[in-house]
Amino acid sequence: MTTVFSLPAPVLLPVSGSKSSFPVRRVYCVGRNYAAHAIEMGHDPVREPPFFFQKNPDNVVLPAAGFPYPPLSEDVHHEVELVVALKSGGEAIDAADALDCVYGYGVGIDFTRRDLQARAKSAGKPWEAAKAFEHSAPVSPLVPAEAIGHLDNGRIWLAVNGETRQEGDLSQMIWNVPEIIAELSRLFRLSAGDLIMTGTPSGVGAVARRDVISCGIDGVATLSVTVV
Ligand code: MN
Repeated sequence: MTTVFSLPAPVLLPVSGSKSSFPVRRVYCVGRNYAAHAIEMGHDPVREPPFFFQKNPDNVVLPAAGFPYPPLSEDVHHEVELVVALKSGGEAIDAADALDCVYGYGVGIDFTRRDLQARAKSAGKPWEAAKAFEHSAPVSPLVPAEAIGHLDNGRIWLAVNGETRQEGDLSQMIWNVPEIIAELSRLFRLSAGDLIMTGTPSGVGAVARRDVISCGIDGVATLSVTVV
């Protein structure tokens, strides 16, 4: 059977120290997973069940391309996040078994059209236009868990033009990685190739054209993106 046209190949993320790459299937994101960020966005940092949204798999881009300032927004924010890459999945995964699904980790930016998000929130409308736009998810090369182990702490940071704007620690996540995987897998069938962006620490803010945004997670990866 032929198809009426061909689809592009999946986005491939490089793997540090390997000639193999990681094909991206889906991109899940966790909202408000650091108390200090929940507070800066005007919410109580209570431990409510985590909530999720998605980006499109082809919104994931390598940093070399730069980040084109998107249309229809005057207030695009950076959100640095730990990215979890899955090598397997399933449904209703126990938190105790969840790390068996993790291939590795990286650092990424959940770029957000904050003005569109604020309008969507106040109108009770969905977030896609604020979150799932072109180039909205630059991700670093992935580092296999085999090489660095699993992560429950470590400094996560982001700087704009060399000035630190976001700084936190993975230990501050309200829902940790096994809990996130367990919760997500009750809602969706997770699979190899899925990425999970795990929420951002405080200090989010606007970016401007020509800004150089660098970010990282100590001992894992760094990423540098120019706004073009
Ligand atoms: Mn985010």
